[in-house]
Amino acid sequence: MKIPEFTLIDQYFKNKTPTRKEVLLGIGDDAALVTVPAHQHLVLAMDTLVEGVHFPLQTTPFDIGYKALAVNLSDLAAMGATPAFFMLALTLPKAETDWLEPFSAGLFELAKMHNIQLIGGDTTRGPLTITVQIQGFAPAGKALKRTGAKPKDSIYVTGTLGDAGLGLLVATEKMTMINSKAQEFVLQRLNRPEPRVDIGLMLRPFANSAIDISDGLMADLSHLLKPHSLGADLESDALPLSWAMNNTIPLDMAKKLALTAGDDYELCFTVSPEKEDLMLDALNKAQHTVTRIGTVSELAGVRVNGYDVSDDFLGYQHF
Ligand code: ADP
Ligand code: MG
Repeated sequence: MKIPEFTLIDQYFKNKTPTRKEVLLGIGDDAALVTVPAHQHLVLAMDTLVEGVHFPLQTTPFDIGYKALAVNLSDLAAMGATPAFFMLALTLPKAETDWLEPFSAGLFELAKMHNIQLIGGDTTRGPLTITVQIQGFAPAGKALKRTGAKPKDSIYVTGTLGDAGLGLLVATEKMTMINSKAQEFVLQRLNRPEPRVDIGLMLRPFANSAIDISDGLMADLSHLLKPHSLGADLESDALPLSWAMNNTIPLDMAKKLALTAGDDYELCFTVSPEKEDLMLDALNKAQHTVTRIGTVSELAGVRVNGYDVSDDFLGYQHF
């Protein structure tokens, strides 16, 4: 059932985000109207968060709002696109200020950071579900794709891996951590992923293929390899682990989380060896950290330290 609550839209969602010059009509009409700059392609992505599936029940409304937009920004980051607008489909059990205020605050904090405008959406009653559709731009023909990896490409990831997976164990009380700083850090990594938009943009001239890590490194890396029947050789010592992972859990558990746990929203990408130095120079100058974790191989399957693990780790599967 629709909530005929224009006051809700006006109060919480209208005129709360930066305004963009490409927007001719935003919230309020039957549809939004935008222009696409010359020689640019429109890049579109959509992601849904369902309570209990994509975030634990105790997640704060602020974090839910933040994450709903972050996961979409991450998809545009993986495409090397500049985010511009987004739309919000909100299904709520009830319309409550105590929920809507912090939810929109989380959503709009990130919208402001990335200078993107909310241009429309839909509001309905039902089990808590948040869908964001995001739109951005990339110069025609220049967007990064999952396809394009080549044998001998170096495989890189941004940031550190496995933190959100550890955060989920803590959030769902499957694990308790003694170090409160480490606990705070991994929960932050779970609830406030940092979409790597700037890095995605810088990778455009260098990367042969790219993806964001939502389902776990093994699962998402295989999306770069399988279309070309390629494989990979990874070194487990090369996996970037945060201080929280390094100091609070056994190393083998940390590595397993880094390989398999989802929700980190880091980027995984491949680059030809001859472009590597130029790429690293550019990233270092901008103080972005990336780590080389292995090499693309003509031999199918993923090997960690020489052992084939392709069947062991399938990532998060909904069905
Ligand atoms: P319609 O009945 O034509 O679908 P709606 O009542 O759903 O219109 O929406 C009215 C306006 O408010 C539209 O411009 C729509 O895009 C916008 N809108 C509705 N829900 C949201 C939301 N949750 N966030 C942002 N904009 C919204
Ligand atoms: Mg509508």
